Amino acid sequence: MFIVIKRKTLIIAFCLVLVILAATGTGIALSQKQTFAVQSKKTVVIDAGHGGADRGVIGKNGLVESTLNLTVSKLLETKLLASDFSVVMTRTTEDGLYGDSLENFKSRDFAERKRIITELGPDMVVSIHANKFPQNASRRGIQVFYNKSSQEGKALALSLQNSLNTLNEKYVGKTFSPLAGEYFMLNCTKKPSVIVECGFLSNVEDEKLLSDPAYREELTDYILLGITNYIK
Ligand SMILES: [Zn+2]
Repeated sequence: MFIVIKRKTLIIAFCLVLVILAATGTGIALSQKQTFAVQSKKTVVIDAGHGGADRGVIGKNGLVESTLNLTVSKLLETKLLASDFSVVMTRTTEDGLYGDSLENFKSRDFAERKRIITELGPDMVVSIHANKFPQNASRRGIQVFYNKSSQEGKALALSLQNSLNTLNEKYVGKTFSPLAGEYFMLNCTKKPSVIVECGFLSNVEDEKLLSDPAYREELTDYILLGITNYIK
């Protein structure tokens, strides 16, 4: 009888130890997961192209690229922050990044964008622009560019282009492949960098779409989707 009781006690004690170990184990797993979530927060630089004296492309009906880029960038910033990204904007106002003097303002504006990116060391750079192709006013659609020497840049561009092709299909009736391009903003960091040309301001239908707040919501939803699909 004594031995039986002792066995029972041992079994109960063993079970208690197991329960405590399991609980502790779960606690460790949870805290590791929480720590991982914090560490995995990705930093995105959103670069609204042009600004100040450099207004970029002007649409036939007056849509100004620098203003459009800023509007789209701010919408994207809000959505990325809501999706647990860290975001740094190269500009948040209509001003350029070259200071007061207009002397060599374009190169100083570019240098400042590069300085922000270099000092921050983000996980990716997404530069927002609008296109023009006056030689053929029928050309339209959203086009993503990457640096051909960056495989990760190409992968990010592909993810964005695939996502944005939903809109190209819906509004333009065709899809596009991402393109390699030689642009300053694709060369500021080794981290994946892309330029999203949100449409052609030389095309009146694209200009009309890009003037529509509902379309800009859709556009930034699909840019966000392209980014989140890339980091999965
Ligand atoms: Zn531009």
